[in-house]
Amino acid sequence: MENQRELQVQQRKGRRVMLFPLPLQGHLSPMLQLANILYNKGLSITIIHTNLNSPNPSNYPHFDLISFPDGFSEVEASTADGVAFVTRLNAVADSLKLPRIVLRTSNISSFLVFAAIPGLLREKDPQSEAPVPEFPPLRVKDLPPQSVAQYPDKFYQLFTLLASQTRASSGLIWNSCQELEQDAITALQQEFRIPIFTIGPFHKYFPAYSSSLLSQDQRCISWLDKQAPKSVIYVSFGSIVAINETEFLEIAWGLANSGVPFLWVVRPGSVHGAEWLEALPKGFLEMLDGRGHIVKWAPQQEVLAHPATGGFWTHNGWNSTLESICEGVPMICHPTFGDQPVIARNVSHIWRVGLHLEMRLEREEIARAIRRIILEAEGLEMRERIKCLKEQVDISLNGGSAYKSLESLITYIKSF
Ligand code: UDP
Repeated sequence: MENQRELQVQQRKGRRVMLFPLPLQGHLSPMLQLANILYNKGLSITIIHTNLNSPNPSNYPHFDLISFPDGFSEVEASTADGVAFVTRLNAVADSLKLPRIVLRTSNISSFLVFAAIPGLLREKDPQSEAPVPEFPPLRVKDLPPQSVAQYPDKFYQLFTLLASQTRASSGLIWNSCQELEQDAITALQQEFRIPIFTIGPFHKYFPAYSSSLLSQDQRCISWLDKQAPKSVIYVSFGSIVAINETEFLEIAWGLANSGVPFLWVVRPGSVHGAEWLEALPKGFLEMLDGRGHIVKWAPQQEVLAHPATGGFWTHNGWNSTLESICEGVPMICHPTFGDQPVIARNVSHIWRVGLHLEMRLEREEIARAIRRIILEAEGLEMRERIKCLKEQVDISLNGGSAYKSLESLITYIKSF
């Protein structure tokens, strides 16, 4: 068995690439998808990973997985001391002494904003509606203010590190493509004079496969099977965002009052002070008589691809946003922190395929937004626009710009 595997490795003509993901769901998934893309192009793959959130080896028999004793806790990975966290990981990457290509797992527009943050935010009211002239259509409040306000020095340091480490690398890979971000790519090329590869969306290179850290509840697919086409609002805020009990109840009543069928992901632990659904009024789901379905974690790509799904209420993590575009599902944007407000502005004001739920979460606002996206002409127009965007992305991957960019990435890696 071992010999046979060794033989296969020998037979692969390509080079070996070592990939080192940040151990968070939104980073692990695209990195593992990239690993599969490179493997399918003939390269051999080694994944270096932390013990925290380590990939399941049985899903990757074709890769060599090497763990290192990191001593990280989940809290450490998601809290503000990103500088110390990233610095420790970078030290491990440096010790390999290999040419380094960076994979950025968010979109290009938000990276440009992050790289410019120290100059953009100083001496401005972080909640201001004022436009950011360097980055239309952003407003000051779309910049990542909360975290910067709380820990300004650490975050300026992190953003500076992000830009300098990227500049010093041998290339930059994006889970995005020209059809989505041409203007941002042009700006990036002017500012970062390193080879740039826009080869996304990665998840479209394979039939739905999952690198999910949590187990996905497949039963929601049979619930979706019973719903009318394009009738359901799917609600999920990804793997990190958490809300308080008041917000949770406003969402619950907003969904109920909308009159629209809903599939709602409530991640255990994502409501402060609760294990799961304890705060829900007694008999809430029974009262809805099957119109609502709640799960702990969904097979999101399958849900978005399901004919019954008509809209996605999302926090606009980049993976979720890409998955929605690729299935032609218009969005209700409710960004919380980091890159999410920038991505939400792309969705609502550049691609115009979603509406932005800006106010404090309030049940009637929520119900109105859901009806607008699922039932009204405005939602239909967004659906038409996102279908066009999806078609352009499909073309990009099938012989178009993303396809060509991947070919040049492979040639580039082999040239080292
Ligand atoms: N996801 C999932 N099931 C869920 C919710 C999310 O599989 O119930 C996946 C989703 O498909 C996406 C990832 O988790 O690939 C979330 O990544 P994203 O960048 O959107 O947000 P983050 O979790 O990093 O905030």
